[in-house]
Amino acid sequence: STSIALYYQQRKRERISKKFTPRPIELRSDEVVSGVTGLIGNTPLVRISSLSNALGVEILGKAEFLNPGGSVKDRVALRMIEDAEQMGLLRPNTGSRIFEGTVGSTGISIATIARARGYDTTIIMPDDVAEEKVKALLALGASVERVRPASIVDKKQYVNLARQRASKFGKLDNIEESDPSLNAERPNILPSVSSSVVVTTTSHVNFDAFDLRDDEDFLTKPRGYFADQFENRSNFDAHFVGTGPEIWRQTSGQVDAFVSGAGTGGTIAGVGQYLKSVNEDLVVALSDPDGSGLYNKVKHGVMFDRKESEGTKRRHQVDTVVEGIGINRLTNNIELALPIVDDAFRISDAEAVAMSRYLVKHDGLFLGSSSACNLVACVKLVKKLGWTENKTVVTILCDSGNRHYSKYRNNEYLRNAQIPVDISIIEDLLRSP
Ligand code: PMP
Repeated sequence: STSIALYYQQRKRERISKKFTPRPIELRSDEVVSGVTGLIGNTPLVRISSLSNALGVEILGKAEFLNPGGSVKDRVALRMIEDAEQMGLLRPNTGSRIFEGTVGSTGISIATIARARGYDTTIIMPDDVAEEKVKALLALGASVERVRPASIVDKKQYVNLARQRASKFGKLDNIEESDPSLNAERPNILPSVSSSVVVTTTSHVNFDAFDLRDDEDFLTKPRGYFADQFENRSNFDAHFVGTGPEIWRQTSGQVDAFVSGAGTGGTIAGVGQYLKSVNEDLVVALSDPDGSGLYNKVKHGVMFDRKESEGTKRRHQVDTVVEGIGINRLTNNIELALPIVDDAFRISDAEAVAMSRYLVKHDGLFLGSSSACNLVACVKLVKKLGWTENKTVVTILCDSGNRHYSKYRNNEYLRNAQIPVDISIIEDLLRSP
């Protein structure tokens, strides 16, 4: 435990001096890999032929839907869990439980990795998230708590609830298991967390609150860990050390723009900062669904103009059929992105839906809603910059369409929500000057 204490001290020093370089984590190789986490990362870049041919500009998508947990979030979950283990905040097979507030993808990734590492998982999510994400979580043995969508200032908002639940872990004995047979073996220790062991996240470690060398049970106590993807620096690091360098390598440095949406902001911040560090001329553009405040923040420096603030600000959530991107508040990870985002594009539900259908029709690519949003933004960026040849734009294909049957891929749902399903929207966009 002395070495863990030293790690803490070092990490604290590095953060203060801002020279912290995240440690690389082993990602997928083409050798025999070790367990499910060995399947994460090193995803291919796929050329989107229909769009590339129509534009004369290479549009490449990072195929993150190929990760074992089905989304880009596997990288983040792995990094958050490994960093927490490094810092001594989590220890495998101690009956510890990871808590997270998420619209789904991150929860599925955490539950997957937790299963492989001997942790239990509790996911708190809004109750309007697509049903298949809940089913996947339950099948992975996670406990799921669904709550009414609420503002971030509300104690019952899902992220706030996850923090509270984590801090009370050990004091609560009524956690409901979706399937107890799937949960980690519990050692014969009463789950009482001593007050000296602060439940916290790697982003908010209160280094002075406890000294590990004085805590004899430190390594064996079960504890609650709030993963906190929105604020956790490990989220940024996963992309700064993993996704970004992979893109640079795969394109041999021939990349002119990077386009991404932001949910927590980790992807656009980490990849964007890395790519800018190796090519300062690279353009970073945000794809933002209608109703999100980030577009305004990038374009005008404020999240809401007066008119828009009425409906959206009150709810602090984004009213769109696109899941996973768009947000109406600033997070640590979004703050890390803002200095390097050059442009932003607002994408309507109709455009995102049309793009997803267009890609199936022309490319056989069955993608989720945020991927479609990103690709609409790629087209808009290329048109705006007047690029017609010799350029390469890279974006993230976050998850596959099979996470979206009940809403985004459900034409009846879309009809009721008065969102058109009309491929000509994309054909017109591609033809526009
Ligand atoms: N796409 C999907 C499907 C997601 O779940 C998320 C994460 N919320 C994102 C994109 C956005 O990634 P990030 O959190 O890194 O901004």
